[in-house]
Amino acid sequence: MESGLRGKVALITAASKGIGKAVAEALASEQCKVAICSRTKSDLVEASKVIKEKYSVDPLWCICDLNKNSDIERTFEATVKEYGKVDILVNNCGGPVPGYFSELEEKDWDNAYDQVLMSVVRFSKLVLPDMMNNEWGRIINVTSISVKQPIDNLMLSNSLRAGVIGFAKSLSTEVGKHNITVNNVAPGLTLTHRLYELAVLEGKENNKSHEEVLADMAKRVPMHRLAGPEEIASVVLFLASKQASYVTGTTIQVDGGFTKGLM
Ligand code: NAD
Repeated sequence: MESGLRGKVALITAASKGIGKAVAEALASEQCKVAICSRTKSDLVEASKVIKEKYSVDPLWCICDLNKNSDIERTFEATVKEYGKVDILVNNCGGPVPGYFSELEEKDWDNAYDQVLMSVVRFSKLVLPDMMNNEWGRIINVTSISVKQPIDNLMLSNSLRAGVIGFAKSLSTEVGKHNITVNNVAPGLTLTHRLYELAVLEGKENNKSHEEVLADMAKRVPMHRLAGPEEIASVVLFLASKQASYVTGTTIQVDGGFTKGLM
Protein backbone atom coordinates (compact mmCIF):
# COMPACT_ATOMS: atom_id res chain seq x y z
CA MET A 1 0.00 0.00 0.00
CA GLU A 2 1.35 3.44 -0.94
CA SER A 3 2.30 5.23 2.32
CA GLY A 4 2.35 8.74 0.89
CA LEU A 5 5.74 9.35 2.50
CA ARG A 6 7.99 9.66 -0.56
CA GLY A 7 9.92 12.94 -0.33
CA LYS A 8 8.72 13.82 3.18
CA VAL A 9 11.43 15.03 5.56
CA ALA A 10 11.84 12.89 8.69
CA LEU A 11 14.00 13.80 11.67
CA ILE A 12 14.61 10.85 13.98
CA THR A 13 16.41 11.42 17.28
CA ALA A 14 18.70 8.92 19.07
CA ALA A 15 18.81 7.03 15.79
CA SER A 16 22.29 5.56 15.46
CA LYS A 17 21.27 2.23 17.02
CA GLY A 18 18.34 0.10 18.11
CA ILE A 19 14.77 1.26 17.69
CA GLY A 20 15.71 4.75 16.43
CA LYS A 21 17.88 3.33 13.68
CA ALA A 22 15.18 0.83 12.71
CA VAL A 23 12.71 3.74 12.43
CA ALA A 24 15.15 5.66 10.21
CA GLU A 25 15.50 2.57 8.02
CA ALA A 26 11.72 2.12 7.76
CA LEU A 27 11.23 5.76 6.73
CA ALA A 28 14.13 5.59 4.28
CA SER A 29 12.59 2.45 2.76
CA GLU A 30 9.61 4.69 1.87
CA GLN A 31 12.02 7.19 0.29
CA CYS A 32 11.70 9.86 2.98
CA LYS A 33 14.54 12.35 3.28
CA VAL A 34 16.05 11.29 6.58
CA ALA A 35 17.99 13.17 9.26
CA ILE A 36 19.36 11.19 12.22
CA CYS A 37 21.11 12.29 15.38
CA SER A 38 22.79 10.84 18.45
CA ARG A 39 25.90 11.52 20.54
CA THR A 40 28.55 9.40 18.83
CA LYS A 41 29.96 10.28 15.41
CA SER A 42 31.26 6.79 14.56
CA ASP A 43 27.83 5.23 15.23
CA LEU A 44 26.11 7.88 13.13
CA VAL A 45 28.51 7.35 10.23
CA GLU A 46 27.97 3.58 10.42
CA ALA A 47 24.17 3.89 10.58
CA SER A 48 24.17 6.32 7.63
CA LYS A 49 26.29 3.94 5.60
CA VAL A 50 23.87 1.07 6.20
CA ILE A 51 20.85 3.21 5.31
CA LYS A 52 22.48 4.49 2.12
CA GLU A 53 23.49 1.00 1.01
CA LYS A 54 20.07 -0.52 1.69
CA TYR A 55 17.73 2.23 0.52
CA SER A 56 19.80 4.62 -1.66
CA VAL A 57 18.87 7.41 0.76
CA ASP A 58 21.81 9.40 2.09
CA PRO A 59 20.87 10.55 5.62
CA LEU A 60 21.94 13.83 7.12
CA TRP A 61 23.56 13.04 10.47
CA CYS A 62 24.13 15.42 13.36
CA ILE A 63 25.93 14.91 16.63
CA CYS A 64 23.37 15.77 19.30
CA ASP A 65 23.22 15.14 23.01
CA LEU A 66 19.49 15.25 23.75
CA ASN A 67 20.25 16.61 27.21
CA LYS A 68 21.51 19.86 25.66
CA ASN A 69 19.14 22.42 24.25
CA SER A 70 21.94 23.97 22.15
CA ASP A 71 22.54 20.59 20.42
CA ILE A 72 18.82 20.23 19.76
CA GLU A 73 18.66 23.68 18.15
CA ARG A 74 21.75 22.97 16.06
CA THR A 75 20.31 19.65 14.84
CA PHE A 76 17.01 21.26 13.87
CA GLU A 77 18.79 24.11 12.07
CA ALA A 78 21.06 21.71 10.15
CA THR A 79 18.02 19.68 9.04
CA VAL A 80 16.15 22.74 7.85
CA LYS A 81 19.27 24.03 6.06
CA GLU A 82 19.60 20.72 4.22
CA TYR A 83 15.94 19.87 3.52
CA GLY A 84 14.00 23.12 4.11
CA LYS A 85 11.59 21.77 6.77
CA VAL A 86 10.69 18.83 8.99
CA ASP A 87 7.47 16.94 8.15
CA ILE A 88 7.88 14.01 10.51
CA LEU A 89 9.51 14.23 13.92
CA VAL A 90 10.24 10.96 15.68
CA ASN A 91 11.30 11.61 19.27
CA ASN A 92 13.33 8.67 20.47
CA CYS A 93 15.89 8.88 23.29
CA GLY A 94 18.40 6.84 25.23
CA GLY A 95 16.86 4.98 28.15
CA PRO A 96 17.21 6.79 31.48
CA VAL A 97 19.40 5.06 34.05
CA PRO A 98 17.69 2.14 35.75
CA GLY A 99 17.21 2.14 39.52
CA TYR A 100 14.80 2.17 42.41
CA PHE A 101 13.86 5.46 44.08
CA SER A 102 16.27 4.84 46.95
CA GLU A 103 19.20 4.51 44.52
CA LEU A 104 18.63 7.64 42.43
CA GLU A 105 20.24 11.02 42.95
CA GLU A 106 18.95 14.48 42.04
CA LYS A 107 21.24 14.60 38.98
CA ASP A 108 19.70 11.36 37.64
CA TRP A 109 16.28 13.01 37.78
CA ASP A 110 17.63 16.14 36.06
CA ASN A 111 19.22 14.10 33.26
CA ALA A 112 16.12 12.00 32.71
CA TYR A 113 13.91 15.12 32.71
CA ASP A 114 16.06 16.75 30.02
CA GLN A 115 16.46 13.69 27.86
CA VAL A 116 13.09 11.95 28.15
CA LEU A 117 10.65 14.86 28.50
CA MET A 118 12.34 18.13 27.55
CA SER A 119 13.91 16.83 24.33
CA VAL A 120 10.38 16.02 23.13
CA VAL A 121 9.13 19.45 24.20
CA ARG A 122 12.08 21.28 22.63
CA PHE A 123 12.09 19.47 19.29
CA SER A 124 8.30 19.75 19.04
CA LYS A 125 8.45 23.50 19.62
CA LEU A 126 11.01 23.88 16.84
CA VAL A 127 9.22 21.83 14.19
CA LEU A 128 5.64 22.98 14.79
CA PRO A 129 5.68 26.44 13.10
CA ASP A 130 6.57 24.94 9.69
CA MET A 131 4.18 22.03 10.16
CA MET A 132 1.38 24.52 10.86
CA ASN A 133 2.26 26.60 7.79
CA ASN A 134 2.31 23.47 5.64
CA GLU A 135 -0.92 22.12 7.18
CA TRP A 136 0.73 18.70 7.54
CA GLY A 137 2.84 17.13 10.25
CA ARG A 138 3.52 14.03 12.29
CA ILE A 139 5.04 13.91 15.77
CA ILE A 140 5.65 10.39 17.05
CA ASN A 141 7.23 9.71 20.43
CA VAL A 142 8.92 6.42 21.22
CA THR A 143 8.20 5.76 24.89
CA SER A 144 7.86 2.43 26.68
CA ILE A 145 5.25 0.02 28.03
CA SER A 146 6.14 1.63 31.35
CA VAL A 147 3.44 4.20 30.44
CA LYS A 148 0.85 1.41 30.63
CA GLN A 149 2.37 -0.65 33.43
CA PRO A 150 5.31 0.55 35.56
CA ILE A 151 8.41 -1.64 35.36
CA ASP A 152 10.37 -2.69 38.46
CA ASN A 153 13.72 -0.93 38.82
CA LEU A 154 12.92 1.72 36.15
CA MET A 155 11.69 4.55 38.39
CA LEU A 156 12.84 7.30 36.01
CA SER A 157 11.26 5.76 32.92
CA ASN A 158 8.04 5.07 34.83
CA SER A 159 7.86 8.69 36.03
CA LEU A 160 9.02 10.82 33.11
CA ARG A 161 7.54 8.91 30.19
CA ALA A 162 4.12 9.53 31.71
CA GLY A 163 4.88 13.23 31.22
CA VAL A 164 5.54 12.61 27.52
CA ILE A 165 2.14 10.92 27.17
CA GLY A 166 0.42 13.85 28.89
CA PHE A 167 2.29 16.32 26.70
CA ALA A 168 1.47 14.43 23.50
CA LYS A 169 -2.22 14.12 24.32
CA SER A 170 -2.48 17.83 25.19
CA LEU A 171 -0.53 18.87 22.09
CA SER A 172 -2.67 16.68 19.83
CA THR A 173 -5.76 18.64 20.87
CA GLU A 174 -4.03 21.96 20.13
CA VAL A 175 -2.59 21.16 16.71
CA GLY A 176 -5.14 18.73 15.23
CA LYS A 177 -6.84 21.57 13.35
CA HIS A 178 -3.59 22.07 11.41
CA ASN A 179 -3.62 18.47 10.17
CA ILE A 180 -0.81 17.57 12.55
CA THR A 181 -1.05 14.29 14.44
CA VAL A 182 0.76 13.52 17.69
CA ASN A 183 1.05 9.94 18.88
CA ASN A 184 3.19 7.62 20.99
CA VAL A 185 4.51 4.14 20.41
CA ALA A 186 5.21 2.13 23.54
CA PRO A 187 7.66 -0.69 22.85
CA GLY A 188 7.76 -3.83 24.94
CA LEU A 189 10.85 -5.99 25.37
CA THR A 190 12.86 -5.35 22.23
CA LEU A 191 16.20 -6.95 21.48
CA THR A 192 18.58 -3.98 21.25
CA HIS A 193 21.75 -2.79 22.94
CA ARG A 194 19.62 -1.25 25.71
CA LEU A 195 17.91 -4.54 26.55
CA TYR A 196 21.20 -6.38 26.39
CA GLU A 197 22.64 -3.95 28.99
CA LEU A 198 19.60 -4.38 31.24
CA ALA A 199 19.93 -8.18 30.93
CA VAL A 200 23.61 -8.06 31.90
CA LEU A 201 22.73 -5.93 34.95
CA GLU A 202 19.89 -8.22 36.01
CA GLY A 203 22.13 -11.26 35.41
CA LYS A 204 24.79 -9.87 37.76
CA GLU A 205 22.20 -9.17 40.44
CA ASN A 206 20.70 -12.67 40.20
CA ASN A 207 23.81 -14.70 39.38
CA LYS A 208 22.62 -15.67 35.91
CA SER A 209 24.02 -15.25 32.40
CA HIS A 210 22.48 -12.52 30.27
CA GLU A 211 21.34 -15.26 27.83
CA GLU A 212 19.30 -16.83 30.64
CA VAL A 213 17.86 -13.46 31.60
CA LEU A 214 16.84 -12.75 27.98
CA ALA A 215 15.26 -16.20 27.67
CA ASP A 216 13.34 -15.64 30.93
CA MET A 217 12.18 -12.25 29.67
CA ALA A 218 10.88 -13.83 26.47
CA LYS A 219 8.91 -16.40 28.47
CA ARG A 220 7.06 -13.58 30.27
CA VAL A 221 5.69 -12.31 26.94
CA PRO A 222 2.51 -14.01 25.68
CA MET A 223 4.12 -14.35 22.25
CA HIS A 224 7.11 -16.06 23.93
CA ARG A 225 9.71 -13.97 22.20
CA LEU A 226 11.30 -10.52 22.25
CA ALA A 227 10.49 -7.94 19.59
CA GLY A 228 12.89 -7.01 16.84
CA PRO A 229 13.44 -3.23 16.54
CA GLU A 230 11.94 -3.34 13.04
CA GLU A 231 8.63 -4.49 14.58
CA ILE A 232 8.47 -1.26 16.60
CA ALA A 233 9.55 0.75 13.56
CA SER A 234 6.72 -0.62 11.42
CA VAL A 235 4.14 0.88 13.81
CA VAL A 236 5.95 4.23 13.77
CA LEU A 237 5.89 4.02 9.98
CA PHE A 238 2.14 3.39 10.04
CA LEU A 239 1.58 6.44 12.27
CA ALA A 240 3.60 8.56 9.85
CA SER A 241 1.77 7.26 6.79
CA LYS A 242 -1.35 8.63 5.11
CA GLN A 243 -3.19 5.50 6.32
CA ALA A 244 -3.00 6.96 9.88
CA SER A 245 -4.29 10.41 8.89
CA TYR A 246 -7.12 10.31 11.48
CA VAL A 247 -5.13 8.76 14.33
CA THR A 248 -4.00 11.26 16.94
CA GLY A 249 -3.57 11.51 20.70
CA THR A 250 -3.06 7.77 21.03
CA THR A 251 -0.46 5.49 22.56
CA ILE A 252 0.01 2.18 20.79
CA GLN A 253 1.82 -0.52 22.68
CA VAL A 254 3.90 -2.93 20.61
CA ASP A 255 4.64 -5.55 23.21
CA GLY A 256 3.59 -9.03 22.09
CA GLY A 257 0.74 -8.82 24.61
CA PHE A 258 2.98 -8.09 27.62
CA THR A 259 0.88 -5.40 29.35
CA LYS A 260 -2.06 -6.78 31.25
CA GLY A 261 -4.47 -3.82 31.23
CA LEU A 262 -7.56 -3.81 29.01
CA MET A 263 -6.83 -0.46 27.36
P1 NAD B 1 19.67 1.54 22.26
O1 NAD B 1 20.56 1.63 23.43
O2 NAD B 1 19.80 0.39 21.34
O3 NAD B 1 19.79 2.87 21.38
C1 NAD B 1 19.67 4.11 22.00
C2 NAD B 1 20.06 5.22 21.03
O4 NAD B 1 19.99 6.43 21.77
C3 NAD B 1 21.48 5.13 20.52
O5 NAD B 1 21.52 5.57 19.17
C4 NAD B 1 22.24 6.10 21.41
O6 NAD B 1 23.38 6.63 20.79
C5 NAD B 1 21.19 7.17 21.61
N1 NAD B 1 21.38 8.02 22.78
C6 NAD B 1 21.55 7.61 24.06
N2 NAD B 1 21.67 8.69 24.86
C7 NAD B 1 21.58 9.79 24.06
C8 NAD B 1 21.65 11.18 24.30
N3 NAD B 1 21.82 11.70 25.51
N4 NAD B 1 21.51 12.01 23.24
C9 NAD B 1 21.34 11.52 22.00
N5 NAD B 1 21.27 10.21 21.72
C10 NAD B 1 21.38 9.35 22.74
O7 NAD B 1 18.19 1.63 22.87
P2 NAD B 1 16.79 1.09 22.31
O8 NAD B 1 16.51 -0.23 22.91
O9 NAD B 1 16.72 1.27 20.85
O10 NAD B 1 15.80 2.09 23.06
C11 NAD B 1 15.33 3.28 22.52
C12 NAD B 1 14.34 3.86 23.49
O11 NAD B 1 13.24 2.95 23.65
C13 NAD B 1 14.93 4.07 24.88
O12 NAD B 1 14.42 5.25 25.42
C14 NAD B 1 14.42 2.87 25.65
O13 NAD B 1 14.33 3.11 27.02
C15 NAD B 1 13.07 2.67 25.02
N6 NAD B 1 12.58 1.32 25.20
C16 NAD B 1 13.33 0.25 24.85
C17 NAD B 1 12.87 -1.02 25.11
C18 NAD B 1 13.69 -2.24 24.78
O14 NAD B 1 13.30 -3.35 25.22
N7 NAD B 1 14.75 -2.13 24.00
C19 NAD B 1 11.60 -1.21 25.69
C20 NAD B 1 10.86 -0.08 26.02
C21 NAD B 1 11.36 1.17 25.78
